[in-house]
Amino acid sequence: MSNNNKELTLSAPLSGPVLTLGQVPDEVFASHAMGDGIAIDPLNDCLHAPCDGVIIHVARTGHALTIRADNGAELLMHVGIDTVELNGEGFALLVKDGARVTNGQALVQFDLDRLARRCKSLVSLIILTNGEQFELQPLARKTVKVGEPLMRVLARSTVGDETAVDNVSAEASASVRITHRGGLHARPAALIRKTALGFSSQARLHYGDKSAPCDSLVGLMALGIGEGDEVRVSCRGTDGEAALQALIAALSVPVTAQHVAPVAATPRRASNEANVLQGVCAAPGLVCGPLFRLAGIELPADIGTHAVDDQRQCLDTALEQVRSEIRTTLAHARQRQHVEEEEIFAAHLALLEDPALVEAATAAIEHGSAATHAWRDAIQAQCTVLLALGKPLFAERANDLRDLQQRVLRALLGEAWHVELPAGSIVSAHELTPSDLLQLSAQQAVGICMAAGGATSHVAILARAKGLPCVVALGADVLDVPQGQRVVLDAANGRLELAPSEARHAQVHQIRDAQQLRRQQQQAQARQPARTLDDVSIEVAANVASSAETQVAFENGADGVGLLRTEFLFVDRRTAPDEQEQRQAYQAVLDAMGDKSVIIRTIDVGGDKQLDYLPLPVEANPVLGLRGIRMAQVRPELLDQQLRALLQVRPLARCRILLPMVSEVDELLQVRQRLDELCAELELTQRPELGVMIEVPAAALMAEQLAEHADFLSIGTNDLSQYTLAMDRDHAGLAARVDALHPALLRLIAQTCAGAAQHGRWVGVCGALASDPLATPVLVGLGVRELSVSPLQIGEIKDRVRHLDAAQCRQLSQGLLDLSSARAVRHACQHHWPLS
Ligand code: PEP
Ligand code: MG
Repeated sequence: MSNNNKELTLSAPLSGPVLTLGQVPDEVFASHAMGDGIAIDPLNDCLHAPCDGVIIHVARTGHALTIRADNGAELLMHVGIDTVELNGEGFALLVKDGARVTNGQALVQFDLDRLARRCKSLVSLIILTNGEQFELQPLARKTVKVGEPLMRVLARSTVGDETAVDNVSAEASASVRITHRGGLHARPAALIRKTALGFSSQARLHYGDKSAPCDSLVGLMALGIGEGDEVRVSCRGTDGEAALQALIAALSVPVTAQHVAPVAATPRRASNEANVLQGVCAAPGLVCGPLFRLAGIELPADIGTHAVDDQRQCLDTALEQVRSEIRTTLAHARQRQHVEEEEIFAAHLALLEDPALVEAATAAIEHGSAATHAWRDAIQAQCTVLLALGKPLFAERANDLRDLQQRVLRALLGEAWHVELPAGSIVSAHELTPSDLLQLSAQQAVGICMAAGGATSHVAILARAKGLPCVVALGADVLDVPQGQRVVLDAANGRLELAPSEARHAQVHQIRDAQQLRRQQQQAQARQPARTLDDVSIEVAANVASSAETQVAFENGADGVGLLRTEFLFVDRRTAPDEQEQRQAYQAVLDAMGDKSVIIRTIDVGGDKQLDYLPLPVEANPVLGLRGIRMAQVRPELLDQQLRALLQVRPLARCRILLPMVSEVDELLQVRQRLDELCAELELTQRPELGVMIEVPAAALMAEQLAEHADFLSIGTNDLSQYTLAMDRDHAGLAARVDALHPALLRLIAQTCAGAAQHGRWVGVCGALASDPLATPVLVGLGVRELSVSPLQIGEIKDRVRHLDAAQCRQLSQGLLDLSSARAVRHACQHHWPLS
């Protein structure tokens, strides 16, 4: 063995025929998701060290171990396929974790016969797991004997390379449980990758006997880590400890708050009605129109011979073209504050930059494939890996890979995404991708139906965000419906009606026309104040997250901002905003609201909301942990800085400050006192109004005591539901039951209003219940005087208020408190105050 600094020749750890990874009967290894390497079909029964080094990981079950060679290369040696399932049976470990070993030393003895009988294959792998620093050169041989040269490990260019292997720094590592909903699928994996790229250390994620570098999205996804699984993170480098803390924070929290209410996925049921296909609602709405069948790209068989360099160049150019298209999409999404769109395409960009995909395609080109086929095959191999994990969320991410497959193929074939979509079409396809959906929405498609797909897919999220009715999982029958056939898509009920009568068509048109007309009328009156029939004034304000959204709210008639969620002003950045920057951001919101008042909530992080630049301590139960105002307990300087910035906006009288997650009076008194001190320091004669959010049952029950010291109360029904009903607000399976119209919630709202009235304070609602028109009469009846709603619903809610009699609402809503369930309340509301 030679060890010329970074160059190293590995000797064969086993005797037997040598195979390439592509020949290994396992998708994960064959697709290079674990890294580059080589395989041996063993004829002997002992694994030997391929070089001098240190054993840095030993699988508990003895079937795999990793050695770090003296030049820093890390090599995973894995005996057989799926041998983890033997749970140690038939393996005898001859070394321990941390042991120093010499080239040729025996490491693991195994029972060849037993393995041959009990596991899928004996083929054993030698995988380079830090391929970002090293590369492999196989020393071509058909069969090897233990100790014979097997391959060469070469350092990738290291001169001036900051990512050169670091043998000096100690490895920082820790275990963490994954709390991302559904496990480590594309979006959480993209967050992990983004976090890892912010540090110079080499970070890896270890799960069971597999591991992947944190900068490989495909590698991370292929680990198949589910929600609740425990993983180990290791970081090596000068900033290893900081990288480890940031990664732990990123791994143990959900990516961001959900901005779109999840649609409960009902399982597909067969329709008993003739000419009706039954699927699952991904985005509600009722539309009719001609069906337009959209087909994907099919490649002919690859029969040509290709110049490797040309094909590599073609692939590079196509990848760059698609990257630049996605960057443009991202910039637009960011400008328009389309958070879901931004997250989805940021994950696509990361996938496209994934070394595992690009390397697999390049390897296929080097073996003679055309760039088109090489790219298609690389994507398909990864899709197979994701589908084989048997977890629906991972399977849905395969659709994101197919999106990239289509885009890059189009770029390679020189085709633009182009279809002549007849006006008002309902588009059908096997499964559309997120970029298809953006294109179709821009081309005025009125509905989407798919044979496959799921209600939690990225396409579904985008369809909901764009208000485009969409049904998924309709089955292959939908693909047989002739082009141009007129259909009705009743998305809320998951139905595609294939042969609607003329009368049904007319009815759908009528319903849509009536909806449109009503919307126009509501918009025309949206800027007028809202008063009930008996002259009770209700302020209809807006929930916003930026000055751009404030502008939209102002144009749509908002009476003010009822909730500015300041945490969303600072997402997607790696450094904290300073006082000046914060002041400017708040001032911009005030300026966008004309002469109307703006309620600014102090930062509410923790729980389901995280900021990249503010890694928080890992908590066993973050939703019950240091979130909202409780953060001031551990980071008082953050609140102090924010209060200073807020006190500098002008005119200060238009700014009201709101405190999140208050659960006792002292929290309010402390901030009040601090505000008074800061006002004195800044020589202000008047402090802005200070309000308290009622988001936890304790606050609602103590409303009277809080109202004594607060200027107003604002009910956050999202969290109040979560904490009252003990149901996670983001739990897809409980989505239909986390309903703020539950009688228990109504009692807390009634108690809050009564407590506030004792001290002459007003009460608003800024949770999602305020945007639900069915709830408007109940809230007005219970004494709420301000509703803060999503900007596009201001006209609708004002219209609803104008048709109510507050005295009647008061009387009828008392009776709702005694009902037995949220369902019963909804039913009664429909009866008392029908929604047409
Ligand atoms: C709420 O909890 O209802 C609320 C408005 O706050 P957020 O949704 O930001 O937690
Ligand atoms: Mg809240």
